Amino acid sequence: MVKGIVRRVDSYDEKLIQEVLNQNRDFILNGLKENDKVFVKPNLLSYNPPEKAVTTHPIFTRAVVNFLLENNLKVLIGDMPGRSFGLSKYPEILGLTDVKNENLSIIDLAIEGFQDVKVSVKNNKIRIPKILWDVKKMYNLPKMKTHSLTFITGATKNLFGLIPRKDRLEIHKIPDKKDFSRFLLDISLSLPVEEIIIMDGIVGMEGDGPTYGNPVKLNSIIISNNAFYADILMSKIMGFNIKEIPLFQLDYKVDGEIDGDIEKFIKPCKKPKTYIISSSATTGIVSVFYGLFKDYIQPIPDVNKNKCIKCGVCASKCSGNAIKLDPYPKFDRNKCVLCFCCNELCPEGAIYLRRRIISKFVKT
Ligand code: SF4
Ligand code: SF4
Repeated sequence: MVKGIVRRVDSYDEKLIQEVLNQNRDFILNGLKENDKVFVKPNLLSYNPPEKAVTTHPIFTRAVVNFLLENNLKVLIGDMPGRSFGLSKYPEILGLTDVKNENLSIIDLAIEGFQDVKVSVKNNKIRIPKILWDVKKMYNLPKMKTHSLTFITGATKNLFGLIPRKDRLEIHKIPDKKDFSRFLLDISLSLPVEEIIIMDGIVGMEGDGPTYGNPVKLNSIIISNNAFYADILMSKIMGFNIKEIPLFQLDYKVDGEIDGDIEKFIKPCKKPKTYIISSSATTGIVSVFYGLFKDYIQPIPDVNKNKCIKCGVCASKCSGNAIKLDPYPKFDRNKCVLCFCCNELCPEGAIYLRRRIISKFVKT
């Protein structure tokens, strides 16, 4: 049965987080026995200090890892950040510098092997890490955040980090937000291993996430055995209308049981500038308006030359091959697929999302 547990935790205090984990021990460890191997997937989008709320907080990750080790499991932990920063920095960003245990292995997924799985979009197959066939459970530790492309990034979107970086550029060419969300859902449904989501919503991110939004206290932890359901709960906590989120516009439903009074957690968050209601989510004249002007409504990426250090990261991560350095980034608007990876991965925050005249009249 699909279940979502929502608990209040007000600060990054390892003891408080461990208390929640211990109280829900049976659900979190269901089906495991001593010495089983498990994989932990935090959100390590890029190298950022914890207070920016870009990545799963190191104290949160450490609490989960220590909990799993104390329960005599063999723990593999790793990710494939969008902007690579090398395995030597992992212990620090994971909060594991002082955790020495022979049952703990920190890995860079980019250098592990990959295996094909079937999906319903993009050539019907994708590659995900081979180690997922070698573990008994995957612990998905997303951060509760907004996202300029998918509007939210929680449990389902965190799985995108399992895809090899090279393949992500191709996948980002999927122009439609709903198709892209279908792809994310497909990853979740094609996993060869059961997952448990333990979501860090103690401090989340609102506004123009997933990198340059504002940290916001949401005081919550979500534990679930279903990524889609965890994301529904997260969206409700952030005060979003789930009908407006592409992931929940798909022809897919999950009914679950909530343990916890979700109403008490709701804290309306600022939406990303790109949170424009799609024409399919509107009716009548509004729908016609959105349909006609959609190309002019959506904000577009642009560069702040005062911040840009001309490093070229944006051009190398551009799915549409739409950026050339000359000497600052120049955008080919015909090639841009509005994936917003340039905004997400610029190390200096030099790429911002610029509203065009018509989009200034559309409230998000
Ligand atoms: S990634 Fe950012 S800093 Fe680097 S060239 Fe692009 S805009 Fe400039
Ligand atoms: S310019 Fe930015 S938003 Fe456009 S395709 Fe390239 S990375 Fe994506």
